This record gives sequence, C-alpha cells and structure tokens, in this order.
Amino acid sequence: MEKKPPSVNDLALSMQDSGIPHDLLVREARLAISEGDWENMGERVERLQRSFVQPVINATGVLLHTNLGRASWGIPHSNFSSNIELDLENGNRGSRQTNIGNLFAQLCGSESAMVVNNCSSAVLLVLSALASNKGVVISRSELVEIGGSFRVPEILELSGAHLIEVGTTNKTRAVDYQKAIDAHRNAGMTLKVHQSNYKIVGFTEETTVDELALLDIPLVVDIGSGLLDSNCPWLNSGAPKWLAGEPAAKQTLLNGADLVTFSGDKLLGGPQAGIIAGKADLVEKCLRHPFARVLRPGSHTLVSLQELALRYLHRDGDRIPFWKMACLNEDELLPRIKKMNTGQIVSMDSIPGGGTLPTVVIPSVGLKLPGDRSKELRRGFNGGLPIITRVQDGDTYLDFRTINPSHDEMVAASLQNLD
Ligand SMILES: *Cc1c(COP(=O)(O)O)cnc(C)c1O
Repeated sequence: MEKKPPSVNDLALSMQDSGIPHDLLVREARLAISEGDWENMGERVERLQRSFVQPVINATGVLLHTNLGRASWGIPHSNFSSNIELDLENGNRGSRQTNIGNLFAQLCGSESAMVVNNCSSAVLLVLSALASNKGVVISRSELVEIGGSFRVPEILELSGAHLIEVGTTNKTRAVDYQKAIDAHRNAGMTLKVHQSNYKIVGFTEETTVDELALLDIPLVVDIGSGLLDSNCPWLNSGAPKWLAGEPAAKQTLLNGADLVTFSGDKLLGGPQAGIIAGKADLVEKCLRHPFARVLRPGSHTLVSLQELALRYLHRDGDRIPFWKMACLNEDELLPRIKKMNTGQIVSMDSIPGGGTLPTVVIPSVGLKLPGDRSKELRRGFNGGLPIITRVQDGDTYLDFRTINPSHDEMVAASLQNLD
C-alpha cells in the first residue's frame, strides 16, 4: 500500500525555503499529489526553479547563441521613470524615436533611423509602409526562411505587397531586375535580403547593391546581421579577417541603398531590436504607419540600445561584450584555462552563431572533459550559475571565449565539484 499523501498545504510549506512564491508551491504540491509523486517534491521544486529565465554561463563557443538570447548584453535598469516621450527642453510630449534615431543615423551615416522590436518587424514595417499594393522585386536566391516561420514571400504577402521574383536560384543579374520593372508597372521597391544563414556556392552570380541602386525604384536591403561599418572603427585592431564579405549598414547605404534593416542582437551585440536606417522621407513613412505603434520598443530596450550606441560612438569595442569576446586571442584565454586545473586543454572553433556568418569559425581554446557532463554542469554548483557546454562525440567541451572572465571562479568551482 502506498503511503498516505501529505496535505497540499503541508507539502507546499515544506518547500518554503526555496524562495518560490507560496501559490506556485501549492500548485506544484497539488500536481505532485495527483501524480502520486509527492516524495519527489524536492526534485520537482528544483525543476521549477530551473524553468525560470535566469543568467547562465555560455561555455558553448557560440557567441550569439539563439537559445541563450543571442548577444550577451545586460544593462541594469532603475525603477525610475524616464523621459522616453517627454521633451525635457520644453516639457511637451516628445517621440521615443527621435534620440535613438539620431544616434543610429550617426552610426550608419544615414539621414534618419528608427527602432522596432526586431529585424523581422523592421522588414514587415518597411514593406507595409512603402510597398503595400505594390510589387516588390526580389531575386529567387533570396526568397528565404530566416527562422521560425518567418519566410520572405509570406511576410511580403502579409504586408499587402506582391512578389515579383526574378532570376534563378543561383544566378540573378541586374538585367533581370530591369526587365521585371519594365514589365510590371506597379513595381514599387527592390528588396535585397542578405544570405545570412546560408550560402550558395559554385556557379553563382549575385547583383551588387550599386547595380540595384541604379534602378528607378527605391532599394531596401535587409542586411539582417547588423554590422554597422565594415572598417570596425570601434576595434583597436581593425576589422577581424573573418568578417570579410559581411555587408555593413554604412557601406550598404553608401553604395546606394535607400534603406537598410538589421537586428540589434546579432553582430550589433545589443538587445533584441530591429533598426531601420536610410533616407529621411522613407523612414518618415515608416514612422507614420500604424504598425510603427504596434511594433514599437519599450523604454528598457531603448535605454539599453542607447547605451550600446554611445559605446560605438566612443569607439569603445572593449565595452561591447560581443566584440570583446570575438576579438580575444588564444594568449588571453590560455592562462584562464590553466587556472581551472582540470581537464585537457584543447583547440576549439568558436562560431558567431545567431544565424550569421554560417561558414565562419574563430580559432579558440578550451577544456575537454571525458564523458558527457553537460547535465551536471547545467545544474550549477552550490548556487552557482548553470554552465552550458558543448558535447561532441560523447565528451564535454568548454570554450573559454564565450565565458565572461568574471565567472571563471564559478566555473572552476563547478568543475572541481565534478570529480
Ligand atoms: C536574422 C535576420 C532577420 C530577422 O531578424 P530578427 O531580429 O531575428 O527578427 C531578418 N533578415 C535577415 C537577413 C536576418 O539575418
């Protein structure tokens, strides 16, 4: 015979030291009892604790890990109100877009800029504001799925625009675009989508931004990844080699794009956001479209993005965690790894991740531990943060490039605890 279950309330009270609100413990206790599982209440509460969004240590070597919120960028927020829509000069209502737009216009070398919730929203807004009921000319090599169910042809349809596809999967030439524009009187925009998360190699031909800029209709380039300037003036060492060929906002606009769209949390290294930058009259149309309100970011995003923009403007790449990590060399990583006093020191390949630079690897160093220890390390040791590792061929790897050095001691404690 099974032991008699405790009362729901007693079972919940027995876990009150966990720090989880009583009502959630009651709910868990009720479930545990109904499933005949009350003896495992401790384990259940730990599982519940792990389900909360919390800081983790990224030891995967994937700089922009989609499951870990892409760029690691955290700016503390206060409980104070902010002047997000108040003009401190005259006390009138202001726009949340003005200041952040000016900062990004400066960074991209554009007339104007604005911010929405992510790059998918940016593309939807641009298409809705500039091409609703018009044709959008796009290469057959760029009718892509970006992630989730965000597919370029579907988003286009949703915006009320209609698709004019040109060229072939592997080759699209300027003349293909020109012919389509001549044939479709309502062609209102050319859209070029960066092949961020895939590559077409071999017998291929792509039309450049300067060629597309010569066409008579506005050119919008969705660069996606959010590199601001291919010269990387915020890095003392200049642009890293592995960035070669990655389109940047500033150069894409210089080459003749009327608008660019990109993410805040990929190569920009900031919070989830989408930036639209380019010609003032086109940005103004986007600002006036009803979707601008639907897709507007909140003050936490804007404060955080403002801080990031200021660090770029100060050319202070060392204070942008993504760039700091991306540019670490092996000499800087080795002493940290040696201090762990365990495992085998091995060469590793870090990757940018986040659906950017699909073929790029950045040489790195890390630790190899025999066997799959990923689950234990995900639990963290003694109140330490969960450590997310890479498991390959049955062994566990920690790439130190993506571990914040301030967490090294915590990592050491967790590793020591394994043996
Ligand atoms: C990543 C990406 C998007 C989507 O950006 P989110 O910020 O994730 O919404 C759109 N277009 C391109 C080319 C991308 O690389």
